[in-house]
Amino acid sequence: MAKRSAAMPATRTTCQPCASVCAPRSCDSPRHRATATILVMPLIVQKFGGTSLANPEKIHRAARRAIRAKLEGNRVVLVVSAMGHATDELLDLARALCPDPPKRELDMLLTTGEQVSIALMAMAIDATGHEAISLTAAQLGLLTDSAHTRARIQRISRERIDQELAAGKIVIVAGFQGIDAGGEITTLGRGASDTTATALAAVLGAKECEIYTDVDGVYTADPRVVPNARKIDEISYDTMLEMAASGAVVMHSRAIEFGKKFNVPIHVRSSQTETRGTIIMTETISMEAISVQGVTLKEDLAFVSLNAVPNTPGVAARIFAEVARNHILVDDIVQNIYDGGKFANLGFSTNAADAAEARTVCEQLAVSLGIGGVEVDEGVSKVSAVGVGMRTHAGIASTMFEALANAEINIENISTSEIVISCIIRRADGPKALRFIHDAFHLSEVSNRTASN
Ligand code: ASP
Ligand code: MG
Repeated sequence: MAKRSAAMPATRTTCQPCASVCAPRSCDSPRHRATATILVMPLIVQKFGGTSLANPEKIHRAARRAIRAKLEGNRVVLVVSAMGHATDELLDLARALCPDPPKRELDMLLTTGEQVSIALMAMAIDATGHEAISLTAAQLGLLTDSAHTRARIQRISRERIDQELAAGKIVIVAGFQGIDAGGEITTLGRGASDTTATALAAVLGAKECEIYTDVDGVYTADPRVVPNARKIDEISYDTMLEMAASGAVVMHSRAIEFGKKFNVPIHVRSSQTETRGTIIMTETISMEAISVQGVTLKEDLAFVSLNAVPNTPGVAARIFAEVARNHILVDDIVQNIYDGGKFANLGFSTNAADAAEARTVCEQLAVSLGIGGVEVDEGVSKVSAVGVGMRTHAGIASTMFEALANAEINIENISTSEIVISCIIRRADGPKALRFIHDAFHLSEVSNRTASN
């Protein structure tokens, strides 16, 4: 049988109140002992999305998870979203009163959704006899810039949270909200409770940030489109960022960026089951062995073509400066020159919602720059294959093009980056393309290593 001392935490830690090094269990002072124990207790951040908090039963379920994590020896910080579709409902209400509500007032309104959730969660925990405290962004000191409805986090103060954790409480933080230097209430953009969670996890040095949602992880493709898609156990931050940018709707990209920058593993999992989900983490050698980890489909794109563009220095700069000035987001850009280099055809993809404005802007540019013509195609989608293993595997592009050929789908444009290959296709072909490419890379099989080199 193991000696009792062997089962104790082997950690020696500096105890801050008296700034001495001690083993937690060998210290006599109660205050000293309590602090030392807290210093070695791991910290976990758990974030619950709206669907995981939709009714009292679900709030209780989330509360039970937090309590269990605490009883397992963790310090626990919860980040919660607004209940169910509360944010959408508040937005509808705002628009019913005012077609274009002032952004400051929108933030004032929308942050109430999360304030309801934190208070109810604290009550649910209290009802089970455990201690919890709810905190708004202003109370904990989550400072942002002043860009209402899309503010960015500047600083998070950990003092208040540490204090409450040290008192043995579960700390419940309102996601999605912040406060600017002038004390104004801000929000971080739709879906940004994820960002609150990973940013807090980074600042607090959490061992993991758990994101509880209504799906049980990240899949090799959207399972609604590709029925044999498989749940991915581990995925790198970079692959996840690229998949999110190419159409996978799993998590807020900025949340993944925080995880990456501060090296916090993000565990995306279901709030309804106990199954392990997907860990988004630092790249490992075994991830490199897999050429493609996921395929994505981005619908609602439009393709803008500028034909017979004079091929002289500064023309592309003028075109894209004007496009950017009108806040039109550009996805991929393609250019080829012809007629001995005199002219170019220049095209870019953009959100379908921006198509009409893109047409107006480009038609004006055509007149001022002597461009031959402008065409806007609103019926396209983009299918992409993503994986860090692409850097070291050959034949990925050909496998993808062959899959589309077998599906008799025409490729209208191709773009590539280090770990992504994308093809623009007709929108109607999107789901079929996704299924064929998923099969071509054997993504439904556990070990989908392609023979290479
Ligand atoms: N409640 C906010 C929204 O619906 C933030 C979030 O859910 O992450 O956008
Ligand atoms: Mg929400």
